Amino acid sequence: MNTLLPTSIAGSLPKPLWLAQPETLWSPWKLEGEELVAGKQDALKLSLFNQQQAGLDIVCDGEQTRQHFVTTFIEQLSGVDFTNRQTVKIRDRYEASVPVVVDQVVRKQAVFVDDAKFLRNQTKQPIKWALPGPMTMVDTLSDQFYQSREKLAWEFAKILNQEAKELEAAGVDIIQFDEPAFNVFFEQVNDWGIAALERAIEGLKCETAVHICYGYGIKANTDWKKTLGSEWRQYEEIFPKLQRSKLDLISLECHNSRVPLELIELIRGKKVMVGAIDVATHQVETAEAVADTLRKAMQFVDADKLYPCTNCGLAPLPKQVANAKLSALAAGASIVRNELNG
Ligand SMILES: [Zn+2]
Repeated sequence: MNTLLPTSIAGSLPKPLWLAQPETLWSPWKLEGEELVAGKQDALKLSLFNQQQAGLDIVCDGEQTRQHFVTTFIEQLSGVDFTNRQTVKIRDRYEASVPVVVDQVVRKQAVFVDDAKFLRNQTKQPIKWALPGPMTMVDTLSDQFYQSREKLAWEFAKILNQEAKELEAAGVDIIQFDEPAFNVFFEQVNDWGIAALERAIEGLKCETAVHICYGYGIKANTDWKKTLGSEWRQYEEIFPKLQRSKLDLISLECHNSRVPLELIELIRGKKVMVGAIDVATHQVETAEAVADTLRKAMQFVDADKLYPCTNCGLAPLPKQVANAKLSALAAGASIVRNELNG
């Protein structure tokens, strides 16, 4: 990136009313068949337009083509039974009815590659594409086949690598892996989580990112945050190993959060996507508040490695709020960019 402080979002944006129920996470599609295919493409264009209107430097699909950031990917794999579901606890936090791994998991066809090509054809700007990370995929399933979280993660890593290579060939500039589970299972992250992620990016020439957040602004997450005390030091457990990993960028929650920003020092040398927009409130940040978070982060990340971003996805927010937050992000980054350019 030649732009100083290039802005982007962590992932999702609200879906239009005619595609899926807004302000609801993971709501089902309102269209089907060819209408759904066309509807997703129109929504992707609209989401791209909103990012461009706000002035973002790196753009994405706003996750308009997926219902859920993990299961939409898993649905396309064989070896997973979606009909006879089981209830498990996700990220040790909330119970959910999930699909079951009943056989070897195999990627029979590309999952998002056509969508990525469609996005690539709409813009010459750098594009970022998000995939679920192996550990978070494992944590969103019940496994009756491999009987080992590590083994299943390794299989997913190989599958993700196949998909990532095709996304790269389609012209994606940054491939991001969403790993909220990294904020919960520290021992496993250090044992095999980061290694699995490195397997997923093996041989890629494009840039790679990992997004580690405290989740969407939903009740299960805000309740969990209340139990974390006055300082959230979760990142501290995994940053030393991430610093030595092959990932290029690390996407973090920083704004309105209790994460001590000095923890970012532990990943010095990496590019850091600094979350400067809170996704858990409808209140729109001022440009100055965004700038303030970026300035604070700059004590621990060199300016040429700082990527202003959102804390997490904006999907559950009303679209006017989400769009205003995109503009605030761009405006805040612009203030700091001007200061740096003196
Ligand atoms: Zn997130």
